[in-house]
Amino acid sequence: MRGYAMLKIGESGWIEKDVPACGPRDAIVKPLAVAICTSDVHTLWEGAIGERHNMILGHESCGEIAEIGEEVADFKPGDRVLVPAITPDWSSLAAQAGFAMHSGGMLGGWKFSNFKDGVFSEFYHVNDADGNLAHLPENIDPVDACMLSDMVPTGFHAAELADVEFGDVVLVIGIGPVGLMSVAGAAMRGAAHIIAVGNRPVTVEVARRYGADDFISYKNGPIAEQVLELTGGVPVDKVLVAGGDGTTFEEAVKCVRPGGKIGNVNYLGSGEFVTIPRVEWGVGMGHKEIIGGLMPGGRLRMEKLGALVARGRLDVHPLISHIFEGWDHLEEALFLMRDKPADLIKPVVRI
Ligand code: NDP
Ligand code: ZN
Repeated sequence: MRGYAMLKIGESGWIEKDVPACGPRDAIVKPLAVAICTSDVHTLWEGAIGERHNMILGHESCGEIAEIGEEVADFKPGDRVLVPAITPDWSSLAAQAGFAMHSGGMLGGWKFSNFKDGVFSEFYHVNDADGNLAHLPENIDPVDACMLSDMVPTGFHAAELADVEFGDVVLVIGIGPVGLMSVAGAAMRGAAHIIAVGNRPVTVEVARRYGADDFISYKNGPIAEQVLELTGGVPVDKVLVAGGDGTTFEEAVKCVRPGGKIGNVNYLGSGEFVTIPRVEWGVGMGHKEIIGGLMPGGRLRMEKLGALVARGRLDVHPLISHIFEGWDHLEEALFLMRDKPADLIKPVVRI
């Protein structure tokens, strides 16, 4: 089979590999559509998770089951499925402790294009099919379904990590596709006022549609100064971080209230340290909580988030700025994600 791989840091291309073997609890899936992620860019061009050789990239897709293990109960060949980017081992102790995404070690649930070949391939392997796959609702287009692999569950996770509550004032830093889903998630959890940090008009327009009220640009000066000016000096309740770098936490800490929470889903692709300002962090005693998390994967979450889309409560289509037809355009879509032209939000390739 053909797959699009990271050959080494900074180099990619098509390679030939054997179709993966299907274990008794696994599935082999043929993609219907795949999406490119900013994480693919961090992995391939920044070397953020270290060197990888001939590893097929990609972790966002939906597909049709080509082969199924004999112990899998709820899926059969020909079924169309939602596939989460994170596919934990559900019988692990980490899962029993409530952190399935870290089964097999920290970030261990992130298998595609990290520890094993990803989804930019004619066929790919899914572990623990009953625990990780979900049936694709009939009224969801495969292109839209790709947003359920990672963008919706990750963006929403920032709102979960920061525990957004009714009436909260929420700052969302970064409104790429992940941050846009953080805006949507915060709005759905009842935020009263959402301030979004972005720069490009295309993302600002979509963020407004998902519920953001006010906008500031990180290019117009320090974020915290701009936020506090907007709120008349009143700190925000929650900060959701879906963009920036290791220094972004300085801004988040400066504008969140004591007892407030900062939920990070941004993948810090470079730099050695994250910086936290000592004084604004209450000289260590400010009860300003910072928590960062890999999105939870798994079937239940896929089914629940899929139901939001299938029942019309969440429209993911505005996230998709570019649709390509066929594998021949995959490389173009990937390079587009790296170059991030002004009109880009999310590219999807329909197979
Ligand atoms: P994008 O690059 O599309 O979006 C990043 C956003 O942050 C943009 O709005 C960008 O503005 C803004 N931004 C850039 N620089 C700064 C800065 N210095 N300060 C504040 N804002 C800034 O990324 P995605 O939305 O695709 O993904 C967001 C992050 O989430 C990525 O790091 C990705 O790897 C990560 N991720 C994490 C997952 C998890 O499980 N935790 C899963 C999937 C992704 P503009 O574009 O206008 O310049
Ligand atoms: Zn992704």
